[in-house]
Amino acid sequence: MRHRFSQAMQTLKCMNCAGPVFYTRRYSGESLCSACFRQSIESKVRRTISKYRMLKHGERVAVAVSGGKDSLSLLTIMAKIVPKHGSELVAITVDEGIDGYRDESISNARLVTERLGVPLHVISYKQLFGFTQDQAINTRTGKVTSCAMCGTFRRRAIDVASDQLGVEVLATAHNLDDMVQTFMINLMNCDLKRLGWFGGTSQSERFKVRRIHPFMEIYEKEAALYAFASGLPMQSTHCPYMDEGIRSSIRIYLNSLEEAHPGIKNMMLKSALGVADRFRQSRTESTRCVSCGRPSTGELCSTCELLSTFPASSIPVETPVS
Ligand code: SF4
Ligand code: ZN
Repeated sequence: MRHRFSQAMQTLKCMNCAGPVFYTRRYSGESLCSACFRQSIESKVRRTISKYRMLKHGERVAVAVSGGKDSLSLLTIMAKIVPKHGSELVAITVDEGIDGYRDESISNARLVTERLGVPLHVISYKQLFGFTQDQAINTRTGKVTSCAMCGTFRRRAIDVASDQLGVEVLATAHNLDDMVQTFMINLMNCDLKRLGWFGGTSQSERFKVRRIHPFMEIYEKEAALYAFASGLPMQSTHCPYMDEGIRSSIRIYLNSLEEAHPGIKNMMLKSALGVADRFRQSRTESTRCVSCGRPSTGELCSTCELLSTFPASSIPVETPVS
């Protein structure tokens, strides 16, 4: 049986160039060789950028690079696209301070940025907040999960780095799976405010910098295959704090749906964008955080709210922004 299957794969030819097949897209039936597959991902990202008007000529663009396969794939593709928009590209990497995990991904980020000739800016929690993620995990007092805490700090770190670099656009490697999972989490929490924020770009008072998600129409699996086909370095370790919150249950559920109904994640993304449109008008206007002065939807921004749950001695005061 296995023999017949591998024989069938060997006889399959790329629908574009008749080369050996690397990947077959179940939802569209396309069979592609490695080079045509990579080209198809690059074209799709170009189409997404143009469909959602993500880039304007001459803007300074940053890619948030964790050093994982998705962000390295995105950086590789953006390095081909951004200069054609007459724009400058930089990479931002956040060092959370996770022993035995972060060093490898930061060195992968260095390797790929050097290879592409893209300047890399590394910002750490230690510099910004006075503690590492390792220390924060041991000091936290509230019920916040490791990833929720890390996500809040990382958003702030990226905002600060973007300010330092004078960036106008920040590209993150959220893929189609991430987007649909986020939509479902917000739906389950009845978080109408966040449902209204959902989309490929977010230019609002909340973010001085326009955030874009050029991988929003790329399946997680295909982003990983792009990294593999491009010979990008793969991280060998997992974060020791990865929590198994609701997101991983939703991921498993969505993958089983996709297995039974190829293409359903694409349909869910379209539905999510439609729902977001309905909620966008009613979204809450932002004000300024009374503590750090950054845009916020409440009296305190989420970072300051989280920091207030830590022992006061461990928190350096960030200079308020005007
Ligand atoms: Fe942070 Fe969670 Fe990612 Fe680890 S898995 S780096 S704790 S967000
Ligand atoms: Zn604040």
